[in-house]
Amino acid sequence: MRIVLLGTKAGPRITTARMGPGQVVIAGETTVLVDCAEGTCHQLLRAGFDPAAIDAILLTHHHSDHNGAYGNVIMSGWANGRTGRLATYGPPPLAEMTRAVFALNRVDIDTRVEDEGRVDIRDLVDCHEIRSAGHVASFGELTVTAALVNHPPFEHAFAYRFDHAGSSVVVSGDTAPCAALVELARGADLLVHETHNPDWVGDRRGNFDPERMRRHQLGSHTPVTEVGGIAANAGVRTLVLSHLSPSDGTVADSAWSDIVRRDFDGDVVVGHDLLAIDV
Ligand SMILES: [Zn+2]
Ligand SMILES: [Zn+2]
Repeated sequence: MRIVLLGTKAGPRITTARMGPGQVVIAGETTVLVDCAEGTCHQLLRAGFDPAAIDAILLTHHHSDHNGAYGNVIMSGWANGRTGRLATYGPPPLAEMTRAVFALNRVDIDTRVEDEGRVDIRDLVDCHEIRSAGHVASFGELTVTAALVNHPPFEHAFAYRFDHAGSSVVVSGDTAPCAALVELARGADLLVHETHNPDWVGDRRGNFDPERMRRHQLGSHTPVTEVGGIAANAGVRTLVLSHLSPSDGTVADSAWSDIVRRDFDGDVVVGHDLLAIDV
């Protein structure tokens, strides 16, 4: 199994230092995309994947840094020649969102079907809403399992585990420290976990209430001081830090990993865009 990090920054603000969340999991003949921030289509191409060849999209939750390119991945795969089916999975209201993608692009789809004789993308997408933890899907020998993680105010935010031919990879999505993530990641070969360090972020300013933003960061995400303990409790072999905040390029990799290694003696990898790891 192989995992490729398409983007490793946290949050919806776009920058050039890092791209937003997206991971590709390749297992046997199956290629799955987990989350798709703005820019994911071109990151797929840069990593050597065609959006037309993605078998499934799994969304962890509906913050836009995780689903912003959902429609774009569907539409660009169609533009690039998709003829096979695309399965999509994620919390409600994924079905409504999928219909909205097709409504937004109705004129283009109708025109190309009629004018170019192109296959109708609306007939190729199978949307599955996930409301609870457990088995999500199997693709050949690849099994996908979800855990309900702790990312308030969302009722539904999921982490996903991928098991294939004796190897296992877990993607945390966004979560505060929680037991369900530790259980999902139990004994995994590799855990991609979100993290932040409030001490390095400084004052946040923007079109939001700074105090409410600070409360969200502290209550809905995992500080770097705790992520090593999570990996140790789960007994994973390799911990990959991603969804990094801050993500502006001012923090050295060693600053992240030195903190994590206080609690975790497995392999620690600080994620970078387009990093590929074989498991
Ligand atoms: Zn996020
Ligand atoms: Zn989030």
